[in-house]
Amino acid sequence: MNNFEYKKSLGQNFIKDDNITDKIVRYSDIDKDTLVIEIGPGAGSLSKKIIPLSGYTILYEIDTRLQPILNDLLIDYNNYEIIFGDFLDQDLSMIREKYHYKKVFVVANLPYYITSPIITKLLNELYPDKMIIMVQEEVANRLCAKNGNREYGMISVLLGSRYNIIKLFKVNRNCFIPSPNVDSAVISLEKNDILLDVCKKKFEELIRDAFQFKRKNLRNNLRKYNLEKISDVLKRFNYDLGNRAEDLPIEVFIEIAKVI
Ligand code: SAM
Repeated sequence: MNNFEYKKSLGQNFIKDDNITDKIVRYSDIDKDTLVIEIGPGAGSLSKKIIPLSGYTILYEIDTRLQPILNDLLIDYNNYEIIFGDFLDQDLSMIREKYHYKKVFVVANLPYYITSPIITKLLNELYPDKMIIMVQEEVANRLCAKNGNREYGMISVLLGSRYNIIKLFKVNRNCFIPSPNVDSAVISLEKNDILLDVCKKKFEELIRDAFQFKRKNLRNNLRKYNLEKISDVLKRFNYDLGNRAEDLPIEVFIEIAKVI
């Protein structure tokens, strides 16, 4: 990797600390029943530890300069494939049909410039059973935030209604080559079923409306709904229409979605 020219535009900050990749893999709990998706394998520091444990691994890498490096590094394994191209252009909806594994996990140090589009795509097209991903620390805090916290917002609710999210550990910027300007964190997302009895489309529309104008209260943001029904639900949890969306825990939004 000595002469490799890292591309900032592709979010190329490779992990240089083996302890970090070991820890990520340990938290992932991968076994032979698991199909693993890794987005952005880079020089393969994480891939080489994932592949031997997994049933099968699919690596998506946009930078073809990494092809010889990855091929060399992974030469001893045949339970993986590398797809060279933009991950955002790939069709993930066929993965569960094509590969028959009990569990589908995502394990990755994500390219930070497209963290949100990647997560949205994964949710819409694949809905993995578990994700252990490295993101910017600030993003991790937003995704894990609980109601009443300054960082709690629409994305915390939308993701938190599909996954139990935990911040596992912080990673200092010096653990990467080249070193980025911010620290990172590894988070764990495990599928939950708290939306089981709720229409997901209705729930998402409610959340988008509730958070539409950050400074407005629920009475204003949810004007298009039956406010009496919403008020009844809120009362049960000691809230009212004067509260803002950021005050409510996910469970209350779920109860509201059931009555609108
Ligand atoms: N996994 C490696 C590691 O941790 O050392 C590299 C992680 S680096 C933060 C992000 C990787 O994603 C880079 O290898 C970059 O080339 C790749 N990448 C960037 N944009 C991508 C895209 N749209 N689709 C697929 N891979 C992408």
